[in-house]
Amino acid sequence: MKGYAMLKIGESGWIEKDTPTCGPADAIVRPLAVAICTSDVHTLWEGAIGERHNMILGHEGCGVVVEVGELVRDFKPGDRVLVPAITPDWNSLEAQAGYSMHSGGMLAGWKFSNFKDGVFSEFFHVNDADGNLAHMPDSINPVDACMLSDMVPTGFHGVELADVQFGDTVLVIGIGPVGLMSVAGASLRGASRIIAVGTRPKCVEAARGYGATEFISYKDGSIAEQVLAMTDGKGVDRVIVAGGGCETFEEAVKALKPGGKIGNVNYLGDGEFITIPRVEWGVGMGHKDIRGGLMPGGRLRMEKLGALVASGRLDVSPLSTHVFHGWEHLEEALFLMRDKPAELIKPVVVI
Ligand code: NDP
Ligand code: ZN
Repeated sequence: MKGYAMLKIGESGWIEKDTPTCGPADAIVRPLAVAICTSDVHTLWEGAIGERHNMILGHEGCGVVVEVGELVRDFKPGDRVLVPAITPDWNSLEAQAGYSMHSGGMLAGWKFSNFKDGVFSEFFHVNDADGNLAHMPDSINPVDACMLSDMVPTGFHGVELADVQFGDTVLVIGIGPVGLMSVAGASLRGASRIIAVGTRPKCVEAARGYGATEFISYKDGSIAEQVLAMTDGKGVDRVIVAGGGCETFEEAVKALKPGGKIGNVNYLGDGEFITIPRVEWGVGMGHKDIRGGLMPGGRLRMEKLGALVASGRLDVSPLSTHVFHGWEHLEEALFLMRDKPAELIKPVVVI
């Protein structure tokens, strides 16, 4: 089969590989559509997870089951499925401890385009099919289904990590597709003010649609100073970090009230250390929680988030600004995600 692979850091292209074999609890899936993620850019061009050779890229997609192992109960060939980017081993000790995303080691629930071939290929392998796949509701089209792999669950996980409560003032740093879903999630959870940080007009417009009430630009100076000026010097209850770099945490801590929480879902692609400002962190006693996490993945989450989209409570269609048809456009879509033209939110390739 053909797959679009990272040949080494900074180099990618189509390669030929054997079709994956299906273990007793696994499934083999043929993609219906795939989406490109900023994480693919970090992995391929920034070498953020280290060197990989001839590894097929991609972890966002939906598809049709073509084969299942003999232990799989709830899926059969021909079923249309949602596929999470994170596919944990559900009987691992880490999953039993509540951290499925770290099953087998830190971040090891993230298998596609990390420890094994990803979804940018004619067929891909899904471990623990009953635990990780979800049936695709009829009312969800394949383009929207791709947003359920990673953008919705990751953006929403930022909301969970920041523990957004009714009436909270929430700062969302970064309003690419992930941050946009954090805005949508914070809104669904009952935030009162949502201050969004980002500049691309397309993203600003989408953020407004998802419930952002105010906007600031990181290009206009310190984020924290702007936030403090907007909140009578008090700061915000919650910060969700979905953009920027290691230095962004300094701004997040400064912009946060004592007792507040920071939920980071940003993939820090480079830099050595995150700096925490001593004084604004209450000289160590400010009760300002800093939490960061990979989204949980798995079937239950896919089913629940799929139900939100199917019921019309969440419209993910504004995210897919660039829809292509055919594998021959995959490279173009990937390069678009790297270059991030102003009108881009998310490129999707329908197969
Ligand atoms: P985008 O690049 O599309 O968006 C990034 C956002 O951050 C933009 O709004 C951008 O603003 C803003 N930004 C850029 N620089 C700064 C800065 N210095 N300070 C503040 N904001 C800034 O990214 P995505 O939405 O696709 O992804 C966001 C992150 O989430 C990525 O790092 C991605 O790898 C990661 N991720 C994490 C996952 C997880 O499970 N934890 C899963 C999937 C993705 P502008 O409008 O100016 O471009
Ligand atoms: Zn992703």
